[in-house]
Amino acid sequence: MRDPRYDVLFEPVQIGPLRTKNRFWQVPHCSGMGHRYPNAEARMRTIKAEGGWGVISTQEAEIHPSSDITPANEARLWSRDDIPALRAMTEGLHAHGALAAIQLVHNGHHVANRYSRMLPLSPSGNVYDGSDPVQARAMDKADIAALRGWYRTAALNARAAGFDIIYVYAGHDMALLQHFLVKRHNHRTDEYGGSFENRLRLFREVIGDVRDAIGDRCALAVRLAVDELMGPEGITCDGEGRDIISALAEEPDVWDVNLSGWSNDSQTSRFSDEGFQEPYTAFVKSVTTKPVVGVGRYTSPDSMVRVIRKGILDLIGAARPSIADPFLPKKIEEGRIDDIRECIGCNICTSGDNTCAPMRCTQNPTVGEEWRRGWHPERIAPIAMPQSVLVVGGGPAGLEAARALAARGAEVTLAEAGREWGGRVARECRLPGLAAWGRVRDWRLGQLQRSAHVQMYLESRLSVEDVLGMGLPHVVVATGAAWRADGVGRAHRLPLGFLANGSVLTPDDMMAGAMLPEGPVVVFDDDRYYIGSLMAELAVAAGRDVVLVTPDNLVSAFSEHTLDQGRIQARLISLGVRIITAHGLADRGSDWLELSCAYTGRRMRLDCGSLVTVTSRRPVDGLWQDLQTQREAWADAGVLSVTRIGDCLAPGTIAAATYAGHLYAQDFGTTPDEIPFKREDIVPLFG
Ligand code: ADP
Ligand code: SF4
Repeated sequence: MRDPRYDVLFEPVQIGPLRTKNRFWQVPHCSGMGHRYPNAEARMRTIKAEGGWGVISTQEAEIHPSSDITPANEARLWSRDDIPALRAMTEGLHAHGALAAIQLVHNGHHVANRYSRMLPLSPSGNVYDGSDPVQARAMDKADIAALRGWYRTAALNARAAGFDIIYVYAGHDMALLQHFLVKRHNHRTDEYGGSFENRLRLFREVIGDVRDAIGDRCALAVRLAVDELMGPEGITCDGEGRDIISALAEEPDVWDVNLSGWSNDSQTSRFSDEGFQEPYTAFVKSVTTKPVVGVGRYTSPDSMVRVIRKGILDLIGAARPSIADPFLPKKIEEGRIDDIRECIGCNICTSGDNTCAPMRCTQNPTVGEEWRRGWHPERIAPIAMPQSVLVVGGGPAGLEAARALAARGAEVTLAEAGREWGGRVARECRLPGLAAWGRVRDWRLGQLQRSAHVQMYLESRLSVEDVLGMGLPHVVVATGAAWRADGVGRAHRLPLGFLANGSVLTPDDMMAGAMLPEGPVVVFDDDRYYIGSLMAELAVAAGRDVVLVTPDNLVSAFSEHTLDQGRIQARLISLGVRIITAHGLADRGSDWLELSCAYTGRRMRLDCGSLVTVTSRRPVDGLWQDLQTQREAWADAGVLSVTRIGDCLAPGTIAAATYAGHLYAQDFGTTPDEIPFKREDIVPLFG
């Protein structure tokens, strides 16, 4: 039963001619499934409608081939030919009573048009903002008229595809309309440039054009970045952000407001808390009477109620919380607060889109698999006959395998060597800024503890004799991985014998609270994700001078895909960490370390009291190996299968571990096909 405190979240809101069924609004978010995988896209969004979201939007939808974001894979509405693929989504949403929204965009100089080979368009002949040697052309009046026509046509086609809410979008520094709005991009001297009114003109005109096109069946949403976090060079919430909303206050039926660019809008939990956008967006309701949607990684219904009651927002916008838990609204509605699978703010989801692949999620292993494997975030098929499974290891892989197996009705015994659950998650969530990552463990533990099908044992390091003695027919080995201390990784493929000339620590040692010897600490980060930077933070906190060395050209290079690389590098700089990029390890003495330039091989020497190597991990697979050597004893012990999963098979992300656990449970009792998922990238020849 719903807690009456949350009733306000289920009130309808009038949006122009339409009423939402509640205040839950899935704002536009990329999925990496876009126009190339329309079935996957439609199914993923439809499940959110089933989960109770009142409004669900596409990701950005390109309105013309001159806005071609290839190789990224967003929505596409270049012409009527795109309607059937989009209709699959709107029909799915309508079947569950949700409103369907589409975010129309022309990306201006944010795209290189690599597929269409058209010249990008821009206010003033701006340079493409990626690294391709491409410069957009400056739009003349005919181009502006054409652009307005494309918006009108796209709006009509969107309406024909069944969308209820049509977005005009000026955000993330990715939209041509925003490029016209801001001084740094718009250097025009005609009526579309210069003064504030002139820079606003095209935005205002397109809003009017779309309004005229959609008539009174659809509602018009405007999405605006009210602050770009770059001071006077950009839009600010107490400057032109406020002026734009004030000038257009009553034009849309609903305002969707946020921060720009994407790395500011989708900040990781390492750098921001729930509700982090409120200081920037709180003013909006004071200058418009129209409903306001905003985001801030809201996963707590109490926080949602607070922002509504305080008059900050009318509708709770969410991208990541809706990915981690597509059933978040329904769980609040049914009073199942403890079942909410809270987003941890890690941005593995954005890394999918940023690598042009269907998104994945650390918390929700079913995301991206809804259509091609038929997975559902809340439902899993019961097993055909009762079966018992022993899961060894209580990290993310073991916890998820145990949880999903129990949900299928298997009798699960879960054994963990340590004194606490969570494996690497328990260790890593104690690192600076990663507390929210503990939710990976906490949600699974909560589910397991409420299950009648699970027995759980801590401080139970199982040997091969233990496993065989238990006589359970199916054994899952999820015993994790340990950081290497021999330097092997991407830059150095063979062990570096010279490392033993001085003190070497691994992230496991650091997380276990190892004392650092006297002298400067050098962190060698060949892992290139988040752990290296956190080891540097720990060493700074221990009062050491710290140097971070990486063979890459950037600190934490993979974190570009999780949108926090810039913040990580800035934090290290502000902590006084010396950063040396493009260098590997060359030699070592007791108090010195020699590096070699990744390009020239030229050497440089550093003082070094201790070296923390963050290179790669080795599976902790001794139990699995022992079980293999005793294969002939399985039958007598009643063991039918032994399977290793997660880091114990191949060390990876936490998302890969929860996925591995879930995959094991889904496949349990079946023989997966050689290609175990449906494909939609196969088109008939000449089709
Ligand atoms: P993953 O990411 O694959 O889940 P983790 O390293 O996070 O891997 O977790 C593995 C867990 O397995 C750790 O908590 C570790 O203590 C536990 N473990 C390792 N060996 C054994 C064993 N022989 N018996 C029980 N638990 C074990
Ligand atoms: Fe949240 Fe991480 Fe899942 Fe993205 S991948 S939705 S940030 S838990």
